[in-house]
Amino acid sequence: MFASVVLDIPTRSISTAFDYVVPANLESSCKVGTTVLVTFSGRAAVGYVIALVQHAPAGVPAGKIKPIERVLTDSAFDEKSVELAWWMCEEYAAPLSDCLRLFIAPGQSMRVHRENASSPWELICEATGAVDDRWIELSSTAQEFIPRKNAARQRAVLAALTSGSLRMSELNATIVGASSAVRTLEAKGVVRIFTKRRVRGYANTTLSSAQAAQPEQLTRGQQDALAAINAACKSGRGDVVLVDGVTGSGKTEVYLAAIQKVREQGKGALVLVPEISLTAQTVGRFRSRFGDDVAVLHSRLSAGERFDQWDMVRQGQAHVVVGARSALFAPLRNVGLIIIDEEHESSYKQDSSPRYHAREVAARLAQLCECALVLGSATPSLESLARTQHGTHAGVSWVRSSMNERPGTAVLPRVQIVDMTQQFGAGNRSIFSEPLVSALHDAVSHGEKAVLMLNRRGFANFLMCRECGCVPTCPHCSTSLTYHERTHELMCHSCGRTWPVRAFPDPSTKCPSCGSRYLAQFGVGTQRVEDELAMLLGPDVDIIRMDADTTKGKGAHQRLLEQFDASPCAVLIGTQMIAKGLDFPDVTLVGVINADTTLKLPDFRAAERTYNLLEQVAGRAGRGSKPGRVIVQTYWASHPAIQAVLAHDRRLFLEPELLDRKEANYPPYTRLSNVVVWGKNERAVKQTVANFAAVLREEVHDMDNWHVLGPAPCVKAKVKDRFRWHILVKSPVTSNPGSVLSTCAAQIGPKLGINMALDIDAYDLL
Ligand code: ADP
Ligand code: ZN
Ligand code: ZN
Repeated sequence: MFASVVLDIPTRSISTAFDYVVPANLESSCKVGTTVLVTFSGRAAVGYVIALVQHAPAGVPAGKIKPIERVLTDSAFDEKSVELAWWMCEEYAAPLSDCLRLFIAPGQSMRVHRENASSPWELICEATGAVDDRWIELSSTAQEFIPRKNAARQRAVLAALTSGSLRMSELNATIVGASSAVRTLEAKGVVRIFTKRRVRGYANTTLSSAQAAQPEQLTRGQQDALAAINAACKSGRGDVVLVDGVTGSGKTEVYLAAIQKVREQGKGALVLVPEISLTAQTVGRFRSRFGDDVAVLHSRLSAGERFDQWDMVRQGQAHVVVGARSALFAPLRNVGLIIIDEEHESSYKQDSSPRYHAREVAARLAQLCECALVLGSATPSLESLARTQHGTHAGVSWVRSSMNERPGTAVLPRVQIVDMTQQFGAGNRSIFSEPLVSALHDAVSHGEKAVLMLNRRGFANFLMCRECGCVPTCPHCSTSLTYHERTHELMCHSCGRTWPVRAFPDPSTKCPSCGSRYLAQFGVGTQRVEDELAMLLGPDVDIIRMDADTTKGKGAHQRLLEQFDASPCAVLIGTQMIAKGLDFPDVTLVGVINADTTLKLPDFRAAERTYNLLEQVAGRAGRGSKPGRVIVQTYWASHPAIQAVLAHDRRLFLEPELLDRKEANYPPYTRLSNVVVWGKNERAVKQTVANFAAVLREEVHDMDNWHVLGPAPCVKAKVKDRFRWHILVKSPVTSNPGSVLSTCAAQIGPKLGINMALDIDAYDLL
């Protein structure tokens, strides 16, 4: 037998598989999906088996083929996964080994390493395994056993076991000397010791909304969506259904019902949720319907927890995988349905190699598995909307199923826009506008809850000189520095450097550019909102702050939400992280402190992102029986994204936005890829990026509708002392930029000290 092996050697050019002989003693263990040790150009190397064949590969004398040295792991993936990895490798111009690595067991790291050029190569294996617990139970003859009078410990152990079997560690924790008593009892045949796999990674929650009681009846919209999903499942071509449902319309219920159907046919389901909304609440809803058939995979789990969840899927013990984008690569056999919730989220794009988009990979996987792909969102991406309008994409059908209403008596909240320039003109210098203050008082006096969102992405919380307009930026990264009020520091969020600073009205304040003393805070932080809110509302209202600082610890996120849930009267203040997925029926007020900071980002998706964010956060209000209201504070009230939220009418935003996109030749009318080159030596970076642009222009000069822009310095022109330049590439929707760009990269070849990223369908353009 012969194995086709992809080597895990970090070189962009090695994207081919090599053939090895499988020695007779390894034939039973060497399967597709195993990690193996081989010899490659005179040294040891680690690789992945992607195929097995009976006949010697053509063109090479059988005696010349080297053997597989060792099989290092069990199989982690199958032939279908290999096919998907090949597709990703070509589509995203990424090394095949990077694509295969997505499939291997969590916690596994096998590599060959040597200290220096003269020391030997050594295999370094890191892997996470399963943990077995020792359990104790009474044997069938325990009844007849009477311990001796002075055997107090034995008696205590037996008493503890009468209500059922217990873990040895629990017995040890409660009874001194339990181990020796258990040993004696086991020798007498009174108790039995057995081992049981411990599954790490379960977190229970007290959140009331984590329960998903089955509704008595599905809404009309839900029934229609389910019918569309069933039709797509039946076709078995990988058809796509976009569930375009307003916030609170019951999309989760549609997913649950669709999964149930698939499970009845003995198949499994993959459910992708943005990392940030993969909370206990979301997981709880799936667990309350499917119990232990659910495995959860995300990056906040420890390696051990992730391994256990992953292994449950591999062993066929769990058939519903709920996870972040990487859950696409879980070892689920017989996939019957793939669901991507909040499909518009930019976190579905991976920002390191392979730079894939989960939506595209899922569409491909659905084709390979002959199942359906369901995309859900209240604010679908313009790309998905365009495909459903067209009806087909890449040979499969794309349909849109809309759900415009919330179930029962719940209605969409009333939205009010407050123009902050008018507030300022009228002498209100507070963070909170007049209408927001009165709405907050109103809500708390009725014992209701409120959510306040502070838009932190963009140019929030920096210092600006009111005289010359200068904003201090990091000399190493050219990004605006963030002001930290409590520590009197300016911080760069690209490289982490800090500088002490005094802001207005401190007498020692000095603008770094003109020396003025009016260097003052612009934008506010969550801490300041918290402080001012506490003054406004007094001590009887709980204020819970959720931001990067308060959610650092493990489980902190969940604890804060549970606190908010349990409080009789509370305000939750948070950054973007509170905009999504929260379902608290007693929230009646949502306030947005600063709606427009994201509108100012130099990115063609800025308006789309702002609209999505506002529509999502507005959707947190009025999900229960009481109607909700939303107050949006802004300095740019006339912007279509803001007006569309006001009217709950997406078209107000979509129509002008699509015109702009078409005119400027941006997605969804084109594919936009970004080639980024960075390094410490600015001249070398500029030279390389210029070469790349020249090669690329030569490559595409006779192709229709290809446009090469740049090279130009990136918006973040310098990060961690590395100069960054980029080239933007626009190509037709049906084109394959991955293959064109990798051809160019191969012509340039690797350059010492220069890094290059080929970002196909780029989302991060800064
Ligand atoms: P979305 O994901 O679209 O924002 P959810 O799935 O969170 O909406 O549903 C919003 C609320 O409506 C939830 O509390 C859910 O239990 C409830 N719900 C969903 N479907 C129904 C139904 N058919 N009848 C009654 N309540 C429902
Ligand atoms: Zn100044
Ligand atoms: Zn910096």
